[in-house]
Amino acid sequence: MQHDQQAGALSRRGLFKVSAALLAGVTGLATLPKQLLAAPLEGKLATLIDLSLCDGCADRPQPACVTSCKQEKNHTVPKPVDPIPSPFPTNIIEDWSKKQEVANRLTPYNRIMVQKAQIMVNGQEKNLSIPRRCMHCDNPACATICPFSANTKDKNGAVVIDQELCFGGAKCKTVCPWQIPQRQSGVGIYLKVAKELMGNGVMYKCDLCIDRLKAGKTPACIDACPKKAMLIGPREQIHAEAEKRAAALGGHIFGKQENGGTSTLYVSPVPFRELEQKLTPASPDPKKGQPLLKPDVKRKMAESDGLGKAVLAAPAIGLVAGLVGALGKLSQRRAEHAGKESR
Ligand code: SF4
Ligand code: SF4
Ligand code: SF4
Repeated sequence: MQHDQQAGALSRRGLFKVSAALLAGVTGLATLPKQLLAAPLEGKLATLIDLSLCDGCADRPQPACVTSCKQEKNHTVPKPVDPIPSPFPTNIIEDWSKKQEVANRLTPYNRIMVQKAQIMVNGQEKNLSIPRRCMHCDNPACATICPFSANTKDKNGAVVIDQELCFGGAKCKTVCPWQIPQRQSGVGIYLKVAKELMGNGVMYKCDLCIDRLKAGKTPACIDACPKKAMLIGPREQIHAEAEKRAAALGGHIFGKQENGGTSTLYVSPVPFRELEQKLTPASPDPKKGQPLLKPDVKRKMAESDGLGKAVLAAPAIGLVAGLVGALGKLSQRRAEHAGKESR
């Protein structure tokens, strides 16, 4: 009880600091406090991305959030085997290990990217920057569909893919409205199980820096942001803060309803549908790791959703087909072996 009270007091102090930061946004960034939200990182969390504060790190060769994420995460991707086995039946190999520097799209080595939009804000043309990563959905279809339960939602809200359990089948990417997870071929458990028949690597995406959260630290990208454009904190407080900022800006919120609700709220001075139309490049391609915004997108895989049912059945069918195929191949090899021995 006493702890709860202390936490509440800290939270209020934290939010006071946030309000001070908002004021500082108007008066000048030099007065921004280092730590925006001092509440303990416990219970259900959410993040806020304030597009009125993010400037895309225009004075740096690469946004600080992108650099810090690469530093935090890239060493967690193992070196792929060489050569990478050709997966059956697609024969598609996705090897990003030699292109780790790529930053203009999502990859296993780039789990946050910053999109741009040139757009009128209060009668003035402005360049808005939009950091994009996993939204950590409230009811993530990517986790529901995973046939190996490798993708789960933590009680703090982070949606995390277990690299030790993922076969890289990419069903999670198919059902994600933003096609966020990205595959590295030639790594992971499939190499030890049935590398010619099942799987194709490991899927990677933002895990909200869950290890840092469990150690009481803020995610690396939030820590690194020089404009304090991103916040993390108790979910209800972040929601209240988003509403407050949107009201102050006469602006808009994204992430509250999308895909059935998420743990990431964006605040923008312009409507997200307009923002989507102004994204550069003019036609971002989710298949190429450049997610659209898709304001109001509905969650796939609702029971009434025919496509959802088909996609839900797919991993089971794929699993059975894979196992039947594996058994068939094994018995064929045994027969060949027995034939050689009897000669
Ligand atoms: S969120 Fe922060 S670190 Fe990332 S691009 Fe915007 S200002 Fe830079
Ligand atoms: S944004 Fe996509 S990958 Fe992230 S939790 Fe939602 S459905 Fe899953
Ligand atoms: S929370 Fe961690 S994993 Fe996610 S984008 Fe930020 S630094 Fe990368």
